[in-house]
Formats: sequence, structure tokens, C-alpha cells
Amino acid sequence: MAQSKEIENIDELRKVRLADEGYIVITDSARSPLVHKINAKCITTDRFNDKVVIKGRKQGSYFWVDSVATAAREFEAKRCKACKPELRLVLPGTFDS
Ligand SMILES: [Zn+2]
Repeated sequence: MAQSKEIENIDELRKVRLADEGYIVITDSARSPLVHKINAKCITTDRFNDKVVIKGRKQGSYFWVDSVATAAREFEAKRCKACKPELRLVLPGTFDS
């Protein structure tokens, strides 16, 4: 069962990064969503704070996802070119429908 959930505050961001499982999708009203490695340097608390806390998620949000496949299916997210999250454990049928 594919999973994703919105990361709503810095505390949640810290928890998922400590757990070091899954990936982070950042949506943006101005461009395509990108999926990042969970501990990639491109994810910073400053940027998170700006987008989620200060701008109140009006211009995009952060989501935790269990896999790159989920990011692609649920968000149509592209892989970040900076941190290059890998495709792995892609089950047959993941990209169907
Ligand atoms: Zn990245």
C-alpha cells in the first residue's frame, strides 16, 4: 500500500528525516513537484519554514512519501537533479493506469 502524508511543521520534518525512510516531495504552484532524498541538502528548515509556515502552504507544500514510485504516481513528481533519489523496489504494475 503506497503511502504519503503532508509534513505540516518543522517537528514532523525533523521526525521523518531522523527516521531516514522514504522521500520528500515538494510541490510548488510555479513548477513541477520534485521528489528529493529524505536527507538531501536541498531540503532545509529555512525553506520549509518559508513555504509552509510563513506562506501558509499557499504556494506549495512538503509531503513525505514511501517511495519514488509513489511520488511519481500521486504527485507526478520529477526526480530532483541535485540529490538524485533512486528508483528502487518498483513493483510490477506500479506505473499502470
Ligand atoms: Zn533534491
